[in-house]
Amino acid sequence: MQVLNSCPCGAIDKAINVKGSNMGSQGKKRGAKSSTASQMLSYRDCCQLLHEGQPAHSAEALMRSRYTAYALGLRDYLIHSWHPDYCPATLTLPIETKWRQLIINSQREQGDEGEVSFTAIYSQHDRWYRLEEASRFKKYHQHWKYTDGDAQWLEWQPGQNQPCPCGSGKKFKRCCK
Ligand SMILES: [Zn+2]
Ligand SMILES: [Zn+2]
Repeated sequence: MQVLNSCPCGAIDKAINVKGSNMGSQGKKRGAKSSTASQMLSYRDCCQLLHEGQPAHSAEALMRSRYTAYALGLRDYLIHSWHPDYCPATLTLPIETKWRQLIINSQREQGDEGEVSFTAIYSQHDRWYRLEEASRFKKYHQHWKYTDGDAQWLEWQPGQNQPCPCGSGKKFKRCCK
């Protein structure tokens, strides 16, 4: 099993960002590094909990865990987190797809329904794409499940001097190009 430092979903450790409150001492325990990478939650403290059965506390958390499941090829989790009325009979994950970055654009919840709009950046071989999706979620036996979404797949080229979409902090041309 691959050891992952930061969670593929890109969630930030909010405890580290809170300064001057009683959360501060907790932040220090986790280490005093200040780079972006050190503020990111580890996979173990983030989506792995959901992958191992902890219920998602929000539609957004479920969405993040599904993105991470795509990134890690966890097919069973994708089926498990899919509302049974909507889940496809077969699900194949193309192995050449590399999921690079998740950006949550907006999310809202009302009662047992939720919607999360996101951009997911991925590559296949040396071509890059953006998936723009408004995903819908419903509670099923009190747990958030994905139903369906409106998605658009756009071919896309990261800028050579832009920060690499993989989140390394390096310029694209010096990293995943
Ligand atoms: Zn995560
Ligand atoms: Zn990169």
